[in-house]
Amino acid sequence: MTTARRPIRRLDAETVERIAAGEVVERPASVVKELLENAIDAEAGTIRIRIDGGGIERIEVADDGIGIPPEELGLALERHATSKLAGPDGLDAVRTLGFRGEALAAVAAVSHLRLVSRARGEEAATGLESTGGTAGEPFLLARAPGTTVTVERLFFNTPARRKFLRAPAREQLEVVDTIERAYLALPRVSFELTANGAELLRLPETKYLGEAAAHVLGAEFGAAKLEVSAAEGPRVRLAGWLAGPSVSRGSARGLYLSVNGRPIVSRPLAQSVRVAFADRLPRTRFPVGVLHLSLDPSRVDVNVHPTKREVRFEREAELLEVVRKAVRSALVGEGAGKAPPGPRDLFSAPAPAFERPVPEFLTATPSGTLPSTRQVRLGVVRSAPKLPGAGTRPELTLLGVVGRLYWLAESGEDLLLLDQHAASERLLFTELLAGSSLAQQRLVSPVAVRLTPREAGALSEQATLIRSAGFEVEEVGGGTWWVRGVPSYRGKIAPAEELPRLLAELADGGGPAVPDGLVERRAASVACHAAVRAGDRIEAEEMRKILDALYRLPGTPSTCPHGRPIAIRIPRTRLDRWFGRSGA
Ligand code: ADP
Ligand code: MG
Repeated sequence: MTTARRPIRRLDAETVERIAAGEVVERPASVVKELLENAIDAEAGTIRIRIDGGGIERIEVADDGIGIPPEELGLALERHATSKLAGPDGLDAVRTLGFRGEALAAVAAVSHLRLVSRARGEEAATGLESTGGTAGEPFLLARAPGTTVTVERLFFNTPARRKFLRAPAREQLEVVDTIERAYLALPRVSFELTANGAELLRLPETKYLGEAAAHVLGAEFGAAKLEVSAAEGPRVRLAGWLAGPSVSRGSARGLYLSVNGRPIVSRPLAQSVRVAFADRLPRTRFPVGVLHLSLDPSRVDVNVHPTKREVRFEREAELLEVVRKAVRSALVGEGAGKAPPGPRDLFSAPAPAFERPVPEFLTATPSGTLPSTRQVRLGVVRSAPKLPGAGTRPELTLLGVVGRLYWLAESGEDLLLLDQHAASERLLFTELLAGSSLAQQRLVSPVAVRLTPREAGALSEQATLIRSAGFEVEEVGGGTWWVRGVPSYRGKIAPAEELPRLLAELADGGGPAVPDGLVERRAASVACHAAVRAGDRIEAEEMRKILDALYRLPGTPSTCPHGRPIAIRIPRTRLDRWFGRSGA
């Protein structure tokens, strides 16, 4: 290297502030999250949020909490200044949502910020304005006790960050999500959101978590919910409500987890819930619901990440087991006596967890002496991703259907199992990507559906896609929409109730594991919701048409857009082996 080495220098204060701000403030929703935490720590009962332009132009959060005394107002905007930690020992058992003393400083560094607060016992409120972190002189004004923080022109001085912001509609969805997460973690506080002057969200305080969950997750959730509750010693408590398996999502975002009132993201916790659902939900679906974990604060390390979203637990494995068991028993209790016995119930195979799917009725072995699950799993799975005779439609004799989902067919000497949903989903997906709209069926009488604000947000963001999927929708107001047209496909129409489910998935950015980009992910979501579903009764003739069309597709795809196989082939030789004819 020829470049001369430059001496080590201390960064100037402004650069330091901006680097630090970058860790905390990623987008408008991160500002909202920090301001909500501050309001909650200040014991607010009602928090009112107003945003304009997805929060990029303006965010205002007003609370009725304890306020900040005038002489501390300046300190509140300084980095590493907090009223929440007394000394280093405080970090071992954090009881407030905030403690790092850097959020207000970080937000102030990258915006125009106005802080107005009236502490209890003060006659008037005091205000302070700051531009890029430089504060002016305090001023007096009238306000009820509490605090209002207004943030304008976010990232005005950090164009690089501004460039990465998404469209206002998307940023607004993230803000909605942030508020809903805060509410579901702590529904004893009410939240109200006004966006561009119109009320968007009203989440009233409640003592009942199930009620809070229904506010956010919609009516469909309310009808099918399971109560989860467990205690482990005097110090660990788990409480919550989950949707039954009939309601699920394409991503883990429908599961709202919190610890001691703090919304968190935890893969291991979410995974424990999923494991408990493993034999009730397809591999690509995720449980929906709300779980509260209460723990001794000294068992939780919240100082892992600047945004405090991820946490670490002491003796984590133990907690995960509490969660899995509690969810499992809520789920098993629910099924008793309700569901008619389907193939799943008759042959409850050991949960295949999240490996490739195994046809369950084959892994079950009534006498217990036939092939072990393991052998079958490996054997079947190997041949899974191949549609027999790709490109040319092989001779198939359809033999019948199991559980209104899996078709049995004979192909040469081999046995073929086909998933009717996966097959039709792949077809639709290809048609949508090729740019064609799905056919639409106008409903004779429109169906009213209720949409949550998230779902409504996805509707305005994805209006074109929804229309080309065949949905025709009209807003009534008050959270209700008329569905006047629905997707129709080969003589079947999608129920209007698919609309909210589809929107919820789109709000999460589309379906789960679609390997391609966003466009593909969205098309996959639409295809999934409009396609023939598990449980639909399809005639053999219809199934034959679906297969014909599938084999005509270039490359004859062997999986649905989410990667589940369309067909599984079991060669004659393997059948022979199972029946003890391996020598033959
Ligand atoms: P932290 O929350 O980690 O302490 P912040 O920068 O978010 O750091 O806030 C700094 C301090 O300002 C807080 O410790 C608190 O004393 C005060 N404060 C901020 N927001 C509010 C509010 N809404 N109500 C009352 N006090 C607040
Ligand atoms: Mg804070």
